[in-house]
Amino acid sequence: MDLAYEQIRNEVKQASIRARGESIPRRRSKSPTKPSAAWTAPSRIGSTKGTALSIVLSSIGCAHARGDEGGCTMCSYLLDGVNRNPTAEEFFLQFQTAMSQLEKLDSPLSVKIYTSGSFLDSDEIPQETRNRILRAISVDDRIKEVVLESRPEYVTDTVLADVRRILGDRVVELGIGLESSSDFVRSICINKNFNLDSFRESLLVGKKHNIGTRAYVLLKPPFMTERSALLDAQKTVTDAVSLGVTTISLNPVNVQRNTLVESLWEKGKYRPPWLWSVVEVLRHASFTGASTVNIVCDPVAAGKSRGTHNCGKCDSSFIDAIRTFSLNQDVRVFDSLKCDCWDLWKHVLEHEDASLQVHN
Ligand code: SF4
Ligand SMILES: [Zn+2]
Repeated sequence: MDLAYEQIRNEVKQASIRARGESIPRRRSKSPTKPSAAWTAPSRIGSTKGTALSIVLSSIGCAHARGDEGGCTMCSYLLDGVNRNPTAEEFFLQFQTAMSQLEKLDSPLSVKIYTSGSFLDSDEIPQETRNRILRAISVDDRIKEVVLESRPEYVTDTVLADVRRILGDRVVELGIGLESSSDFVRSICINKNFNLDSFRESLLVGKKHNIGTRAYVLLKPPFMTERSALLDAQKTVTDAVSLGVTTISLNPVNVQRNTLVESLWEKGKYRPPWLWSVVEVLRHASFTGASTVNIVCDPVAAGKSRGTHNCGKCDSSFIDAIRTFSLNQDVRVFDSLKCDCWDLWKHVLEHEDASLQVHN
């Protein structure tokens, strides 16, 4: 059993490496002084509404995807990186460029720092650079919440002590890609390369420093039927809430370039999740979280063939409802969603066979 498990795990890893192919040489050449992306959007901040600035710093990218492990089966963030690690000054310029978007905005603000990898990995973002960025945030009183993203292996007592000391009494959350609470799904379907115990440990280190955990929950990794994916996401939400996360961020898979998911999708062997399934998981999360946990979902490429979608006719009403729910947490917004494609979705849930071709 263990041997078979390891063999399958290795095959998925190799397939992920093949799908990634030459993606590093194919990175668009980018300036190391500009962030990969930065945007503001209305956001839930604690129990109120405000504006969040999301910053994607351009770095050399995620160590899990750069090395021999192949990266996660659905992730192409490596393509967003730059070919040499920016200097401390260049990183800070990226950060300042992004922060200029907050100039005319009122409190409360949230700043979310992504790196296409791990902000807490000192090989990716040197400690001094990380702390300089945090110090710049700490002098802006409008910023009430800070979200930092990292894999669990970089979440240490020392690093979080620094974060807490610099950011004072602001709300701080660590975004961690739990994806699934099943070690089997996380390893075999996602090639994530960490187990639930590592996630739990990070969460506990966070708690020690009064830093919350934002669990990213993935809906529909490859090799799963719609039904098994829906049930797995619901169970993951339940498990994450009992572990003590502060936010659930539901991420329906979108088909990104140079990934194993893309190669399956191109062969007709993968369909992103239905919006009906997204809503089911959010309803479950709302019930399970019982207003102790924030639940958010901002699906990428929603309504398109590469993203979560329904029949095309009802997609925009679903996307609007999901966005509204993420802001006000009121699940009743889903009650008015109706469409004939409900029958087809139900049919898929009851009869889909993972070995059969699926249609877009
Ligand atoms: S999902 Fe996260 S951990 Fe996985 S390859 Fe992408 S950036 Fe790395
Ligand atoms: Zn429809």
